Amino acid sequence: MLPNDLDELYKEVILDHYRHPRNSQRLEDAQVTAHGFNPFCGDEVDLQLRLNGDGAVREVGFQGRGCSISQASASLLTEELKGKTLAEAEALRGTFRRMMQGEKLTDAETESLGGLAVLAGVRQFPVRIKCALLSFAALEDGIKEHARRQRRK
Ligand code: ZN
Repeated sequence: MLPNDLDELYKEVILDHYRHPRNSQRLEDAQVTAHGFNPFCGDEVDLQLRLNGDGAVREVGFQGRGCSISQASASLLTEELKGKTLAEAEALRGTFRRMMQGEKLTDAETESLGGLAVLAGVRQFPVRIKCALLSFAALEDGIKEHARRQRRK
């Protein structure tokens, strides 16, 4: 179920990602794994990141269930993560969060969000912002956990 007055084009993109989530294969032997749960509407996401030797994301896996915005946001995120380092993924997360919190982004920042920019309209629906941010919060936890394990090595 989507808010009715979301821009039609954005709505189409969101529904397409919801119905056909990208990168939905589960990656075994991933270096970064993350789980997110939003009790408000029962949204759940699982993410796996497999990294290159140089620390860039080579492959992303995503499985989940829940509302269209949470699932579309996770699917869109998987498309933007490939080729990024974890530091770049963190920067992307920060920019996306600022957009969802209603901050005005520069054109370059909006561009850096790639396909995720279609979720800008969700800002008008405060209860759905958590849904849009769920996979990002999970990613943040996964990256932190990964960093902790690296330090212990
Ligand atoms: Zn939701």
